[in-house]
Amino acid sequence: MTDVFTKSKRSEVMSLIKNRNTKPELAVRSLLHRMGFRFRLHRADLPGKPDIVLPRYKTVIFVHGCFWHRHKGCRFAYTPKSRTDFWLKKLESNMVRDQLVKADLERLGWRVITVWECELREPGQLANRLDLNREVL
Ligand SMILES: [Zn+2]
Repeated sequence: MTDVFTKSKRSEVMSLIKNRNTKPELAVRSLLHRMGFRFRLHRADLPGKPDIVLPRYKTVIFVHGCFWHRHKGCRFAYTPKSRTDFWLKKLESNMVRDQLVKADLERLGWRVITVWECELREPGQLANRLDLNREVL
């Protein structure tokens, strides 16, 4: 993976990724909305404070930035060339936390869906994946 961003662009991208109510999350919300799903946001009483919660389907959705959450095999999940050890440690601890949160939610009976930021480039495909009524997840 190559470092595709300049230093200033990278910090801009990272601050975007870290915040809640980011653009990708809003895009997923509007997609779900158009599909007719009702959902709640950032339920603090659930492990990991899921971005989107669909109580009727006992489903939670996390919208993950590919870099920040290390999307496997994705070209956006690059490793920065400077301070590499720092970043690897940080990104790996994010991944471990994601896995623990997922396991906790599943133990509580929730279905956990992860939407990756790069999937938003193909909204049609993503919509198919999020068609909760079809049980094809
Ligand atoms: Zn990705």
